[in-house]
Amino acid sequence: MSAIITVEVGCRAGCGACCIAPSISSPIPGMPEGKPAGMRCIQLDGNNLCRLFGDPKRPAVCLRFDYDHDICGQTRDDAIANLVWLESVT
Ligand code: SF4
Ligand code: SF4
Repeated sequence: MSAIITVEVGCRAGCGACCIAPSISSPIPGMPEGKPAGMRCIQLDGNNLCRLFGDPKRPAVCLRFDYDHDICGQTRDDAIANLVWLESVT
């Protein structure tokens, strides 16, 4: 008998947790003051994809946030929980 093991190796398209849970203090197009923790970024579309992907107007902080298995976990709920916790301790 064989087992199939799935390992996440990169950002889950359509997750969007890192565009909702953390606060962002730098300006975002359409949100000049940035955004508070827990608020959905105005640039996150209905499929939880960034409207500014590949666009130079995408904030630098977003370019710096990279997939991290320990933060992103296995599901969007994992990622939200980890990011909320990180926000509370930083
Ligand atoms: S929280 Fe992680 S998996 Fe989810 S969109 Fe952000 S980088 Fe991708
Ligand atoms: S600009 Fe794009 S990557 Fe940055 S928080 Fe908003 S939706 Fe996410």
